[in-house]
Amino acid sequence: MKGIAVSPGIGIGKVFIKEELPEVERRTIENIENEIEKIENVFVEVEEDLKNLYEEKKIKLGEDKAQIFKAHLMILQDPEFSDRIRNNIKNEKMNAEYANKLVIDEFANMFESMDDEYFRQRALDIKDIGIRIKAKLLNINTSKLSEVKKGTIVIAKDLTPSDTAQLNEEYVNAIITEFGGETSHSAIIANTLGIPGVMGIKNITNEFKNDDLVIVNGNDGLIIKNPDIITLNRYEELLKEEKSEKELLKEMIGKETISLDGKKIEISANIASLKDIKNALDNDAEGVGLFRSEFIYMENTKLPAEEEQFEIYREVLKKFENKPVVIRTMDIGGDKEVSYLDFEKEMNPFLGYRAIRYCLDEIEVFKTQLKALLRASVYGKLRIMFPMISSMVELKKAKEIFEECKNELKEDNKIYSNDIEIGIMIEVPTAAIMSDKLAKEVDFFSIGTNDLIQYSTATDRMNANLKDLYTPYNPGVLRLINMTIENAHKEGIWVGMCGSVAGNQDLIPVLLAMGLDEFSMAPTTMLKSRKLINSLNIEELQNIKNRVLDAADKNEIKKILNIN
Ligand code: PEP
Ligand code: MG
Repeated sequence: MKGIAVSPGIGIGKVFIKEELPEVERRTIENIENEIEKIENVFVEVEEDLKNLYEEKKIKLGEDKAQIFKAHLMILQDPEFSDRIRNNIKNEKMNAEYANKLVIDEFANMFESMDDEYFRQRALDIKDIGIRIKAKLLNINTSKLSEVKKGTIVIAKDLTPSDTAQLNEEYVNAIITEFGGETSHSAIIANTLGIPGVMGIKNITNEFKNDDLVIVNGNDGLIIKNPDIITLNRYEELLKEEKSEKELLKEMIGKETISLDGKKIEISANIASLKDIKNALDNDAEGVGLFRSEFIYMENTKLPAEEEQFEIYREVLKKFENKPVVIRTMDIGGDKEVSYLDFEKEMNPFLGYRAIRYCLDEIEVFKTQLKALLRASVYGKLRIMFPMISSMVELKKAKEIFEECKNELKEDNKIYSNDIEIGIMIEVPTAAIMSDKLAKEVDFFSIGTNDLIQYSTATDRMNANLKDLYTPYNPGVLRLINMTIENAHKEGIWVGMCGSVAGNQDLIPVLLAMGLDEFSMAPTTMLKSRKLINSLNIEELQNIKNRVLDAADKNEIKKILNIN
């Protein structure tokens, strides 16, 4: 089987299929006794599971982390909760699945409407128990992704970005999904975590069963089910080679990134949460080129307060000790959903009400984030970046609101740094085209190729069927990039790139020749990229760059760059 290679590396392991739970319908039942017996058995089984999970996690992760299962057990054992389900079955002659759903919805709604954050968080626990009960009733295995064993290959129809962020890279050796492409946010997170991944394989969940042995090659997209011993040995060898290559790359730690002809380049990390900082620093990041702050919103149950955000931003700035940290204001929308924001369903979510568009509309939400950023700015070298800018009007409005936040903080006697660089993502074609004007208004640009490719070639970045069209080798895309860099330099500002192309080893020489100043990428590709850049002479690459920019199509470009 072959799919799209979205996160490099080889993974070998046992399959864990993430099953989807269907919606349950209300049915009238004849035999109440049977239904009660069914739910009683499930209560006992879920109790057992929770007790085992508690014991297991206590040993592996400590009492603190294990407590959650004890709390879930207490909810389950509370007669107030379980009697409600029993009574629904008895009094309403309702099937157990629906009786469970009603009670869970009722409890979760009650908690969600409370003022106290602690109680609001309990709504998640209730939903969690509800899922465990429902899965048992339907006889579907839905062990959670965060609870898989060591050496697991996760197979799913779809993994949301939040699902992927839950994965533990020490336990999950690779992921395979039916949906998603190279720059879907699940793929991006897998890259950040260093978990190999292949996406876009139709019907993948039906091709495997739990515990099948599988080899996943995240370098070429190949999947090998139940390999023979010779194949297995060959891939185990390749895996060993990969590991020793990684070891060898450690020699690049502590070196600066500088081309042979002396241009100093900044290689920084893309991160989505505080959890990613360690990986970034272990791989010697020279800063953060993109902190996708929307994940703070996605991993929450309500809009994160100023104080909560402030603490997160302060933490990242402190950990990077005066190395620059670009924090992008929240970029929700597209495949990044925030469950508690009740957005209307849209025909084209990637083109919809999202990111800066939402922030300029919900100004208080935007201000909360900007004030948290401003207050954190005194703890390091902060750079703030606005996503999805498509016009000067949006940029000016965002900057105005930023100034208002400064004034309001001043009135409240709160301090902030006066040395914050403000930048924008160049990811919408009109922003690239208007980059000569936009450059006059900011301190830097960061090119977001993931979206720039999507919007300029009109191909949905999530759609596996369009993978041949969704390509950075389209000369139109490369011309937009080149034009952006030229316009930025004319105005004397620096340009980075935080889309996945920044880590593309075949294109790094071309980007370098175009004059790109900063490359921000998944932590696992940083050292390799430093090694490459340190071996290149920018002057000597001008000819290749000119030929690439003059090419008529992607095939010609691939030929020039010797890509097969
Ligand atoms: C991009 O669009 O290239 C980018 C870096 O942002 P995101 O992938 O989060 O859309
Ligand atoms: Mg983007």
